[in-house]
Amino acid sequence: MQYQAVFRCIAGCPGEHPLLEPIYRCPSCGNLLEVAHDLDALRERAAGSWMRLFDERYKRTVWPYGSAVWGKKEWVCPAVGDESIVSMDEGGTNLFWAERFGAELGLDELWVKQCGNSHTGSFKDLGMTVLVSVVRQMIRSGGKVRAVACASTGDTSASLAAYAAAGNVPAIVILPRGKVSAAQLMQPLANGATVLALDTDFDGCMAIVQRLANEEGIYLANSMNSLRLEGQKTVSIEIVQQFDWEVPDVVIIPGGNLGNVSALGAGFDMMTELGLITRRPRIVVAQAAAANPLYLAYRNDWRFEPIEARTTQASAIRIGNPVSIEKAIRTLKRYNGIVEQATESELANAAARADRTGMFNCPHTGVALAALIKLRRRRVITPGDRVVVISTAHGLKFTEFKRKYHETALDDVTPEHANLPVELPPDYDAVRRAVDSAAAS
Ligand SMILES: *Cc1c(COP(=O)(O)O)cnc(C)c1O
Repeated sequence: MQYQAVFRCIAGCPGEHPLLEPIYRCPSCGNLLEVAHDLDALRERAAGSWMRLFDERYKRTVWPYGSAVWGKKEWVCPAVGDESIVSMDEGGTNLFWAERFGAELGLDELWVKQCGNSHTGSFKDLGMTVLVSVVRQMIRSGGKVRAVACASTGDTSASLAAYAAAGNVPAIVILPRGKVSAAQLMQPLANGATVLALDTDFDGCMAIVQRLANEEGIYLANSMNSLRLEGQKTVSIEIVQQFDWEVPDVVIIPGGNLGNVSALGAGFDMMTELGLITRRPRIVVAQAAAANPLYLAYRNDWRFEPIEARTTQASAIRIGNPVSIEKAIRTLKRYNGIVEQATESELANAAARADRTGMFNCPHTGVALAALIKLRRRRVITPGDRVVVISTAHGLKFTEFKRKYHETALDDVTPEHANLPVELPPDYDAVRRAVDSAAAS
């Protein structure tokens, strides 16, 4: 069976474009593109047979299907030859039952999808493997790609740099100077990318990289390139697969540029269209109150205005003018969507409170957990709901956030769960007294 996928305009303009063409916006109306699959061809295989195929491939070593993205290759990017694929075994991350934290919130079924347990420590790897593989396919078929480039709040650049290095493609990353974590800055440097640090915010970097893509033949690796979303959408398929093909009731995801939530919806859409599932979950996007343009739109009948994003510990979602705003709003309308926001204190305390139950959360996951706490308190989420929180990055990429939290050094945060080392002389009695008082409390 030949499976086909092409770019189409999200606003419905006629015409389609090959996935191997460097094109990011509709030539007629300027809107974003999306990848459209030949669903009739995919429907020739029954739903149950797709499930069995995906289960057989899941986390095995037969190239390239052991990657949980490429294990669903026919649904993702059938045009890429296996020899062009650049994969570091993405997806297949743990979806664990957060029993203790759920019980604290009066929820029997709270689950955390730990997308940060990935090659570069964030869910961005799910999409980047697809984008860089397509670039390699272009180069193999004689296309000219001088370099791949992205603007980034940190995790995109780490992911792009790693996959480009693995695929031997030059990478350029453009970062807002001083606004990404030390770990996020080290990653693209270590992988040999050209790192340009600009005195602006993410939105300023995004404007420049779009111009480079338009004027200099540099291939754009931001999520406005909808190839990335094809990889990212596997997260919803994978969650359902991990629940033995059952759909959860609520999925909570932190949102910045809003490619992620659009991809989440696209995965559920595709499973619905191909008959694997028959109902939809409710989707909640969580934003930092300092960077909340989607939240403001939600509260204003979906009327969107870009804003200037302010400083937030959730630096990867510090975005005031999200590229995928229209896609995200369409997704939320279909998924009975909710947008919630979290202040700096709320996000930091939610992350720390959940850490006390054994997690180690990045600030973006803190935003999602804070949204969960608020929706539970308002009884929008009820005790019987099966809730999945998507944790987008590894907590170890944000150790400064943790250190400052516990040292009460974060701006606008009053820590409720600070825990500091007890400094003692090397004296047995002093240690014993400290152990006694710890055991008593
Ligand atoms: C990129 C990112 C997000 C947001 O994803 P968008 O597609 O930009 O909405 C959330 N959390 C982390 C850790 C990220 O790196």
